[in-house]
Amino acid sequence: MTGTIRTVLGDIEPESLGVCNAHDHLFISSPQLPGQELDDAEAALLELNSFAALGGQAVVQWTPYGMGQRLLDLPELSRRSGVHLVAATGLHQAKHYAAAEFAGIRDDLAELFVHQLTAAPVRAGLIKVASAFHHIDEHTRHVLAAAAAAHHATGAPIGVHLEGGTAASAVLDELAGTHGVPPQRVILGHLHRFPDSSIHRQVAAAGAFVGFEGPSRAHHTVDWRLFDNIAALVESGHTDRILLGGDTVTASARSTADGPGMAYLLHTLRPRIERELGLEIATAVFTTNPARAFSTHWRR
Ligand SMILES: [Zn+2]
Repeated sequence: MTGTIRTVLGDIEPESLGVCNAHDHLFISSPQLPGQELDDAEAALLELNSFAALGGQAVVQWTPYGMGQRLLDLPELSRRSGVHLVAATGLHQAKHYAAAEFAGIRDDLAELFVHQLTAAPVRAGLIKVASAFHHIDEHTRHVLAAAAAAHHATGAPIGVHLEGGTAASAVLDELAGTHGVPPQRVILGHLHRFPDSSIHRQVAAAGAFVGFEGPSRAHHTVDWRLFDNIAALVESGHTDRILLGGDTVTASARSTADGPGMAYLLHTLRPRIERELGLEIATAVFTTNPARAFSTHWRR
């Protein structure tokens, strides 16, 4: 493996990342989830400790700019839990921001992302963006262009929230085709929410990483497809593209509350993958793949 992974405590060799939750949140807030903010550092530490107690060694927080990232809290949490933390910059859908706030940063997005990746007191290691439902709207197009520019300036990987798991091919075309981002630097998230295995195979064959997350109450109707989606990619020879995360977005979804939280990945999902698909597949999905997905040759 080559390159390094940018954690909140500095750049590390990919080999030292370890067992990784590739998509989650310690802190997040949105006008879309009133009263459900993740904004409690002590609760975040408990959640991290529950993940670490099961052998978890790294968590990637996909909270983008302006949604309560709490970057300054992350180094201390990483030190106290012993878990590597990778933070994100980037921007979510327009509905997560006040119109005036977006107008204020609209023309300087790439600069803002590059600053958070390279010059902020706590640096991000991922650019997170988002699609609209089954299409790319004007906001998305603008944000994808900025993310691609920031990628070219820094080498940072790009993680995409696909709304309902949709628009995967359109987003990959826009990033790779229009903007020249190598597909291997793109992580398409939430794909199990649209459990069409032939689309999963297509984007994996193109070289993108395929992110599955959960389970959660919000996505209970499709979560039962998660394991089959993993197995289908394994069977078609795309084990090396699969990433798994917990994607805890509300306080009640933590393992210390109603759950299932981050711990589920290691007390339930990983043992099942080991049992039904084998240890080698589990190691790829939880350790080797994230090490490749989040490491890059940083240009700054
Ligand atoms: Zn998320």
